[in-house]
Amino acid sequence: MKLNACKECKKLTELDICPVCKGRTTPHWVGFVAVADPERSEIAKKMGIATKGKFALKVR
Ligand SMILES: [Zn+2]
Repeated sequence: MKLNACKECKKLTELDICPVCKGRTTPHWVGFVAVADPERSEIAKKMGIATKGKFALKVR
């Protein structure tokens, strides 16, 4: 399965357009973090993630 990462919010999705912020997505990303509870996740806070799901660590 091919996954793209949103350039704006780093959300991982199979779509060409981010379902969260409607930003453009790219197949060029490295690493990911799965956020189950954004309010309790330090990584989510650091990255500014407010929704649960999978997010790329680095998006080019
Ligand atoms: Zn997005």
